[in-house]
Amino acid sequence: MIGSLQIAPSSIGEGMTHILHRQIHASLPVAAGGKGIELFDHDGRAYIDASGGAAVSCLGHGHPEVTAALHAQADKLAYAHTSFFTNEPAETLADKLVAGAPQGISHAYFVSGGSEAVEAALKMARQFFVETGRPERRNVIARRQSYHGNTLGALAAGGNEWRRAQFRPLLIDTHHIDPCYAYRYQKAGESEAAYGLRAAQALEDKILELGPDSVMAFVAEPVVGATAGAVPAVPGYFRRVREICDRYDVLLILDEVMCGMGRTGTLHACEQDGVAPDLMTIAKGLGGGYQPIGAVLLSRRIFDAFAEGSGLFQHGHTYMCHPMACAAALAVQEVIARDDLLANVRAMGAHLSRRLGERFGNHAHIGDIRGRGLFMGVELVEDRSTKAPFEPKRKLNAKIKREAMARGLLVYPAGGTIDGVRGDHVLLAPPFIIDAAAIDAVVERLGDAIDAAVA
Ligand code: PLP
Repeated sequence: MIGSLQIAPSSIGEGMTHILHRQIHASLPVAAGGKGIELFDHDGRAYIDASGGAAVSCLGHGHPEVTAALHAQADKLAYAHTSFFTNEPAETLADKLVAGAPQGISHAYFVSGGSEAVEAALKMARQFFVETGRPERRNVIARRQSYHGNTLGALAAGGNEWRRAQFRPLLIDTHHIDPCYAYRYQKAGESEAAYGLRAAQALEDKILELGPDSVMAFVAEPVVGATAGAVPAVPGYFRRVREICDRYDVLLILDEVMCGMGRTGTLHACEQDGVAPDLMTIAKGLGGGYQPIGAVLLSRRIFDAFAEGSGLFQHGHTYMCHPMACAAALAVQEVIARDDLLANVRAMGAHLSRRLGERFGNHAHIGDIRGRGLFMGVELVEDRSTKAPFEPKRKLNAKIKREAMARGLLVYPAGGTIDGVRGDHVLLAPPFIIDAAAIDAVVERLGDAIDAAVA
């Protein structure tokens, strides 16, 4: 599975860039090609893409059936504005998503990515209460240490202070509660079940503090990704959350932008928690990186409020329901279903979890190994017994990324905020087509990269 690709020489990357990158002084290699689980830079160096970028490339790179579908769609119809037309790939994709969605979901709303999906979901929640005669419902409750996107509404919902701090004056009021994060918050001697109920109780307490009639939605990632490194809730947590939302008529928005579309071994992560949301956001694995696409899946109850009320959802973007994006997503989802790749996610996820346990179970600086399916994380600590994170000034996650790339490995290290202190973790989200030998190579290279970074 690990191979090579013929890359034409390129002079790009040798001079000044006119692109504003997130890190202005970063000097990045040029991505020149991709095949299967690997990406190649312009020098022909191969990297195993063990994070799919940011949990995006679920089918790997250069899948011939997806590129053929894109060619065919480009030849037929690249774009038609949604105020004039619907289009075939968007309609077929919506049918498919609704058919496989959790109970109660009746419609899909297509946008261009995760943040746009979260923005739309927040506005749907707000409009739902306006349409049903409860305009006083405006408060959003979310969790610390979550990421929901970088546009202003999504950033407000996110609970990562490092990302929010300088933009706080621009953000709508959001009320954050503690995440369900067993490694950090479960008390000694407390069972998982008891911890799950205690963590969920924070939601009810917050609703009561704000006044139930003022709360419109609770937003949460079933498995927290970018800012926490694949942290699933303990069993029972989301079932209690669902009960609390129902008790106070608060909408449950599950953000599955990163953990959804098969990444955890079931099509939707929330299936494993035994709950169905009122609104769900999906993106990354939906189009697998072949096109930018995201969606909100909404329940019949929300749709009916709009249909029987004003008759419109007061929102929209130029590129929603984009035919090329929908055709790519359709092709990606058809290949995943036909090749039963979720079975491979479950089998390879178990292998990855086992191999990480063998390599890092007794590692002096790995405090926790967690995740579901091919969505796994390891958390770094300076001291395993106290769980103290490394000092932020060590910039450990940047070092791990560099050391991994030097070994031909792409992983997604980041720093979350733990009890007000930034901690480091590494997220793994390889393509669903990965095999056991490639996983062994990922774990070996990651182990070497971490050892070099903490030395
Ligand atoms: N929600 C979650 C859970 C995410 O992980 C992300 C991105 O990492 C987003 C929303 C934002 O998605 P995008 O970067 O496509 O705007």
